Amino acid sequence: MPDRDFDLFVIGAGSGGVRAARFSAQRGARVAIAEDRDLGGTCVNVGCVPKKLFVYASHFREELEDATRGYGWSVGETGFDWPTLRDNKTREIQRLNGIYEGLLRDAGVKHVEGRATVVDAHTVEVGGVHYSAENILVATGSWPTVPELPGRELTVTSNELFHLETLPRRILIVGGGYIAVEFACIFHGLGVDVTQIYRGPLFLRGFDDDVRSHLAEQMRAKGIDLRFDANVTAIEKMEGGVRATLTDGSKLEVDQVLFATGRHPNSANLGLEKAGVTLAADGSIEVDAYSRTKVPSIWAIGDVTNRINLTPVAIHEGVCLSETLFGEGPRTPDHENVPAAVFSQPSIGTVGLTEAEARERYGEVDVYRSTFRALKHTLTDGVERTLMKLIVDRASDRVVGLHMVGPEAGEIVQGFAVAIKAGATKADFDATIGIHPTSAEEFVTMRSRVED
Ligand SMILES: Cc1cc2nc3c(=O)[nH]c(=O)nc-3n(C[C@H](O)[C@H](O)[C@H](O)COP(=O)(O)OP(=O)(O)OC[C@H]3O[C@@H](n4cnc5c(N)ncnc54)[C@H](O)[C@@H]3O)c2cc1C
Repeated sequence: MPDRDFDLFVIGAGSGGVRAARFSAQRGARVAIAEDRDLGGTCVNVGCVPKKLFVYASHFREELEDATRGYGWSVGETGFDWPTLRDNKTREIQRLNGIYEGLLRDAGVKHVEGRATVVDAHTVEVGGVHYSAENILVATGSWPTVPELPGRELTVTSNELFHLETLPRRILIVGGGYIAVEFACIFHGLGVDVTQIYRGPLFLRGFDDDVRSHLAEQMRAKGIDLRFDANVTAIEKMEGGVRATLTDGSKLEVDQVLFATGRHPNSANLGLEKAGVTLAADGSIEVDAYSRTKVPSIWAIGDVTNRINLTPVAIHEGVCLSETLFGEGPRTPDHENVPAAVFSQPSIGTVGLTEAEARERYGEVDVYRSTFRALKHTLTDGVERTLMKLIVDRASDRVVGLHMVGPEAGEIVQGFAVAIKAGATKADFDATIGIHPTSAEEFVTMRSRVED
């Protein structure tokens, strides 16, 4: 074997890259990682973590209202200061960047600052320096896309949103994915006047249809102006804000427009095609079940492969890769029954198949569905209703889909995901005693099937 500088050179220190680098180094491999922005990648800097902090912030308004409306509290004058939230969040993110630096250092990973490109199957270049490596891992993530339209330079994406100078009074959010939905709820909670528009008939494509329509109802009931089958054709600057022209010709004046219309894999200008790596039509790197590209020494994980674009999945793919290269032997990542949450208000938790997917895969399925007002809201006159849904394969009695829209849905569904992964049947759910009084107990007390 030729003497190369490293056993593994990782490009991109995000969720997947850092985990693969650390675990490989801990197994004795000589590892380097290049990063051209901030350690931790999207999730830590402009994704999951700052977003969830904003979700917490935005909940307080309703909590204060509920406390005074139903629970006997009186609260003095309240107010919200955006710069305090923004700057506290930034301080926390900087602390996390430092922790990532320490984790890599302690594992013995060499951190190379700068943008890396692939020169050939065994060479990476960063800032004019060539590094040779037995294996190269591309973990460069993804980047938000904004469609071509007049005035697009007047808009922001999720990247900029975390650093806004001032909190807008009115915001237009374009997009129907989970990021658009989460920001619509965050800004609404912070007291901003929110309009969300999506070009399709209903947002959150890919989620269970009942979940999608239930959340749309809840968001509307809270006062978010949701418009489907609509889009923006142009944006222009005007005194004190911007004016968006919509597909029906109507105009909407707001202070800020957020485009959350999708993300594309970060695979351009990396030297990949020249090295022999193939890309799919959407720009994602094509890999086999072991995350190996067409070039045997080049691997790719995470969002850049556009499989399931979530942090825990990128991390799992990184762990599997390090086992394949330096561990017990080849291991393929498992993409079945990956649970997920949308931190909307109310939030979504989901694992397994949607009803439509289950009907297609199994033919005959039983559906159990329950909507109710959570106990907390009985004293507040709150409009929010919780939805819970189980989908059962009739032939095997296995629960193949579990979905919830309601408070703490992510926390609840994480636990049930273990049961689904272990192949729990409806009879197992029925045999489980509930914890009372909780919302979660509804999942083990549903007895009446929805009639076909
Ligand atoms: C607003 C938002 C909210 C999200 N919320 C959630 C959530 O709640 N839960 C969840 O599971 N997921 C969430 N995600 C998705 C999650 O952030 C991604 O799936 C995850 O970060 C992907 O990890 P990765 O390692 O593939 O890429 P990333 O974390 O994006 O890391 C890629 C890194 O590579 C670096 N890089 C790129 N090109 C180069 C180069 N040529 N040289 C050197 N470095 C380079 C980038 O700067 C970046 O740091 C969210 C994403 C967004 C945008």
